[in-house]
Amino acid sequence: MKRCPLCGGELEERTITHPQEYKERIIILENVPAEVCRQCGEVLLRPDVLERVQEVVWSDTAPKRMTSVPVYDLAEVG
Ligand SMILES: [Zn+2]
Repeated sequence: MKRCPLCGGELEERTITHPQEYKERIIILENVPAEVCRQCGEVLLRPDVLERVQEVVWSDTAPKRMTSVPVYDLAEVG
């Protein structure tokens, strides 16, 4: 059983939606295999998964769909 490097909690294999910042934009990747800590929610991506994420982000491939993302300014909302 793998443990979370932050809190030592149990890691669970899950597919997640992973936001990735690239060139001032947020790209969202769906169905990303990840290990998620049951205790603190820390998300860990395996090196091969991270590599695939970067490939997709850098490839400029047409995305499956576009969406709009809400933006908040913490300085404004207080
Ligand atoms: Zn944890």
